[in-house]
Amino acid sequence: MTREREGVTAVADGVLRIHRAGVNCYLIAAADGLTLVDAGLPGMWRTLRHALDGLGATPDDIRAVVLTHGHFDHVGLCDRLKAEHHVASHIHPADSELARHPYRYDHQAPRWRYPFRFPAANPLLLAMVAAGALWVEGTKTRDGVTPGIAMDVPGRPVPVWSPGHTNGHCGFLLADKGVLFTGDALVTLDPYTGRTGPRMVARAATADAETNLLSLDRLADTGARLVLPGHGAPDEGGIRRAVDQARRAGIA
Ligand SMILES: [Zn+2]
Ligand SMILES: [Zn+2]
Repeated sequence: MTREREGVTAVADGVLRIHRAGVNCYLIAAADGLTLVDAGLPGMWRTLRHALDGLGATPDDIRAVVLTHGHFDHVGLCDRLKAEHHVASHIHPADSELARHPYRYDHQAPRWRYPFRFPAANPLLLAMVAAGALWVEGTKTRDGVTPGIAMDVPGRPVPVWSPGHTNGHCGFLLADKGVLFTGDALVTLDPYTGRTGPRMVARAATADAETNLLSLDRLADTGARLVLPGHGAPDEGGIRRAVDQARRAGIA
């Protein structure tokens, strides 16, 4: 595996974590090419290139982007990958409109309250802005994300239906590796509070917390060994334990 580089960590056999400003995306390296799971923020392009360099690859080796959901901090590289490298992005149909307009999302609590209640999160939010969080282009996605059906892209990730954070949120399971990409249905860092450990994202950015809570059961059912969230560090304690902790942590 590639050695640790700036913002790039090998987290499982054939899986790289690419991270900046508390935001993760992941590269799956398979014999038939690369799949990018989520597409971060525009300012993560250089970090993506570092990851590709470590694999001896280029952006043209990326066969597909699979998106857990359509928020701005998960689609940031889609536009460039599509325009310059003809890489298509796939998302569940219930989130395709959001991917086109990644700032127009439902949430249950006013966002402006959080910087006052949770000042610990402010450096993180500023880092996200520095990585281009306010200037994300929406993207026209393709379907092909059907819960329970392995996708015809490198690594054959299986979408795991997990709405609530957004209406069309899906995790992705690599069953042979015991790896689950949980997107923002379960994170280990909440960008809106700065709190760490398994939890749901604050209501400032979550469409329906009660539905998200129900989706935790579906994530737990995968029995995955390694949890790779949309925000925060990997959790090697397994998805069942992470879900128990997230339930106890509640939602801010
Ligand atoms: Zn999100
Ligand atoms: Zn997010």
